[in-house]
Amino acid sequence: MKLASFALGALLLSTATAVADAPYQPKKDRERLGKSTKHGAPPAPGTKPAKLINLYNQWTNDWLAVDLTDLPSGGEIDLFLRDHFTNEVTKMEPKLIGAVCAAATDFKSDIVWVVSGFRHPKYNLMLRKKGHQVARDSQHTHGNAVDFTIPGVTTEKLHEWAKLQKLGGVGIYLTSKFVHMDTGPIRFWEGD
Ligand SMILES: [Zn+2]
Repeated sequence: MKLASFALGALLLSTATAVADAPYQPKKDRERLGKSTKHGAPPAPGTKPAKLINLYNQWTNDWLAVDLTDLPSGGEIDLFLRDHFTNEVTKMEPKLIGAVCAAATDFKSDIVWVVSGFRHPKYNLMLRKKGHQVARDSQHTHGNAVDFTIPGVTTEKLHEWAKLQKLGGVGIYLTSKFVHMDTGPIRFWEGD
């Protein structure tokens, strides 16, 4: 028994050492390196680097770097905006990524915080039962809505901007500090 626990201790120690020795690499860099072959040859020397918008999902801690000249595939976006509660992925309306990236560009930011994308009907129902401000047939459950915020931009300013886009529904949540945009009918509301 003593020997076994010693062996386990040694194993744990060696695992810890291996982790400590691994060079640190931010997750988004690893992801970008991983898909570099798909994007073809690197740009020629002297070429201006692509402008990237970094999307952050506050529930999954995932980052998605979006090159505005070479938008990520639907699959990557769908995975990024998945329901964090059930881990389910759905086909997201592609206009949403365009909208949040346009917001970042217009506010001269390269970061967007995503508060909510796809919401599985099961999760949506659970939120409703808990008394959260969630519509019964929410556009989130159809993959047609995104809740987001841009660091350094007030919710009011982002809300004004969102209304001007005439994409669909726009909601402002002043206490929670985010703006909802969807591709459903044009309508406006205020939440908490
Ligand atoms: Zn929403």
